[in-house]
Amino acid sequence: MKLLENKVVLITGASRGIGKAIAEECVHQGAKVVFTYVSSDEKARALEAELTQHGGTAKGYKSDASKFDDAQKLVDDVVAEFGTIDVLVNNAGITRDTLLMRMTEEQWDEVINTNLKSAFNLTKAVQKPMLKARSGSIINMSSVVGVKGNAGQSNYAASKAGLIGFTKSIAAELGSRNIRCNAIAPGFIETEMTEVLDQKVVQEWRNAIPLKRGGTPLDVANVTVFLASDMSAYVTGQTIHVCGGMLM
Ligand code: NAP
Repeated sequence: MKLLENKVVLITGASRGIGKAIAEECVHQGAKVVFTYVSSDEKARALEAELTQHGGTAKGYKSDASKFDDAQKLVDDVVAEFGTIDVLVNNAGITRDTLLMRMTEEQWDEVINTNLKSAFNLTKAVQKPMLKARSGSIINMSSVVGVKGNAGQSNYAASKAGLIGFTKSIAAELGSRNIRCNAIAPGFIETEMTEVLDQKVVQEWRNAIPLKRGGTPLDVANVTVFLASDMSAYVTGQTIHVCGGMLM
């Protein structure tokens, strides 16, 4: 039996990067996957085709996670089509990096709304079907930057630290209903975005990590599958660092 056999998994922001790898691994483990995106229509259609080609069940929705009403509508639509939601992965995230001195109110709001308010929007919406089922697993994609802070990323760090506080609070609120909530804090994960960076700088980053390499989206997806599955039935309120030992 596969780890997520017949579970309905909703993943925000999965048209590329880490979210895409999570969608692939969840289907691989037998889940029915619903994923969202905001602008990458073509990539979303391609992923839908890839996930369903060997008989998997997957559907992409264009839905802005930072918008409260969009999140409620999305969850209503998913429940109408798939019957329930067993796992929510709040993965959608953006950066608008700059020093506080230059940061605009818009850059602050965009990051907080997309990275943190989105988790409130989606978690509030999935609460109803999960309470009804008396089970559920909610996974919030934080970052080591949320634990440690980082110059030039005060908006991003605040959003990711906020997710950790949110995670612990939801775990405390919903634990008695068998709904678990955990966070993942990835370190330096190599994606299409990091391919365009100066490779000398990237190699220096790798050298500074105890495991001597950047993480892969699959490294993060594997931990997500663990937290989504019943293998982690007694794990809640935790933040698991997936960073090669970068932050201990
Ligand atoms: P990415 O490649 O930039 O992908 C972001 C995804 O989020 C895309 O699918 C994007 O959709 C979607 N998205 C953006 N805004 C959204 C919104 N308002 N509503 C719904 N979807 C939205 O990012 P990534 O590197 O895979 O990162 C995924 C998560 O891991 C983020 O939360 C990030 O902060 C976190 N993380 C990443 C790293 C890293 O090194 N990569 C490290 C620590 C934490 P479109 O394609 O349609 O824009």
